[in-house]
Amino acid sequence: MEKKQKKINKYASRSQMVEDIITWNDFYGPATKEASYKERFAKIHARLLHSDGAKFPLVQFIQKHKLSAVEVFLLLRVSALDTLRLVSVPLYKITTLLQDAQIIGTRTETMRILLDRDSALFTERIFGVVGGTIDLKYNFLSVPAKARKLPIKKRIFSPLRVLKELNKYVIGQEEAKKQLVAGVFEHLAKCARAKKGETFTKSNIFISGPTGCGKTYLCQCLAKILNIPFIHADASQYTQTGYSGLNVSDILTPLLSQCKEKGKLPVAIVFVDEIDKLRANTERWGVSSTNVQMEFLRLLEAKTVFLEQRLFGRTTTEVDISQVLFVVGGAFENLLVRHDAGKDIGFTKAPAVYGKTLTVDDYIQAGMVPELMGRFTYLVQLSGLEKDELRRILLNPYHGPFQQYKDLLKSQQELLPELVEQMVNAAYERRLGARGLQQQVGRLFQEQFLQQSVQIEL
Ligand code: ADP
Repeated sequence: MEKKQKKINKYASRSQMVEDIITWNDFYGPATKEASYKERFAKIHARLLHSDGAKFPLVQFIQKHKLSAVEVFLLLRVSALDTLRLVSVPLYKITTLLQDAQIIGTRTETMRILLDRDSALFTERIFGVVGGTIDLKYNFLSVPAKARKLPIKKRIFSPLRVLKELNKYVIGQEEAKKQLVAGVFEHLAKCARAKKGETFTKSNIFISGPTGCGKTYLCQCLAKILNIPFIHADASQYTQTGYSGLNVSDILTPLLSQCKEKGKLPVAIVFVDEIDKLRANTERWGVSSTNVQMEFLRLLEAKTVFLEQRLFGRTTTEVDISQVLFVVGGAFENLLVRHDAGKDIGFTKAPAVYGKTLTVDDYIQAGMVPELMGRFTYLVQLSGLEKDELRRILLNPYHGPFQQYKDLLKSQQELLPELVEQMVNAAYERRLGARGLQQQVGRLFQEQFLQQSVQIEL
């Protein structure tokens, strides 16, 4: 019987192809998973050969010059590096490439290609080899030359419109929203001026608020509206340089793949949460918390940092981080005061509040290092959510917890007013802020989840 041929899924778009190649480069380090690496390369290779040459310059080139698998491998490897902008391609040593290429082809064939100046890779001036390092003349994975000449679309944001949009998602916290938007816009304005050669001092933001009141959500929504990357990191997970564990600069590693300019991290918001867990005079894993706070201070002050990524072995790159805005904060439980309400109001518990506008001195007394506190231009303080706010969050049609579950389950269910009150009261008394609401709604939909099958692509 004739063997049924497997259908090869050609690439439909450039982004699909680039994503595939980059993921392959990123996750399939040759030293770790040789077999899957090779298999995946073969898949990409086959897809490329079947794709429409008119659409992709990379495919055109491969077809025109009838490149062998090893040649395609070399081209993809170096192009992906350049697209990722992680290392400057001329630094990519031939010896590394030869070691990697052994997995796909043979060392002799690779040698021949690299040394044969008449091969397609050289005649088209794709690669140059200078003193044992590779230079890529043209990147097939980046935007085509024609498109590159088009003016970059400038995005114009008005702070008031951003605030209006933010109001749809984040309920209450009016003052905090205004301060945060102002802080982020100050940063954006400085980044824009820096493009004209000006240098600037960053205006970092310090944020406090009881758990579940929207610290993370606020920063996340703002980044989403502005369409810039957002990173959330737990300060207590990091340690001092030289100690085993994560270095504070590792927080920025995910931004490496989103660089728009070589060697420069993009405009982004990095939220370092739980900083209050690093109170002075305490220790975490044998490392003084004060020292870790000082590491964060260094990160906040740095213009450039060295980031390490496991890609074709370990690569260390120096990147400019001036466009990264740091928002540092925590719940500062020890500054909260509890005013439990009397029985006449109906409950005995009420959310804890800070009771006043907190100053730098308050934070220093709570264990923050003065030098670090000195780096924040904006001190943003969120308050515990009141019942009315919890009610509005619960029923918010924009990404509110009830709406999220309804969308997920395509449910038409509505909430009866008594149930709303019950959920709000429970969340209020539990002192978990809006997180308490999510638990309640989750429980309500639990039964419906048990009745719906889900198709999962594995
Ligand atoms: P934290 O202050 O502890 O960082 P989060 O921002 O993570 O709290 O809030 C947890 C969840 O609760 C969010 O994902 C969001 O869905 C919801 N939430 C919290 N505060 C608000 C708010 N003010 N408005 C709307 N939703 C909120």
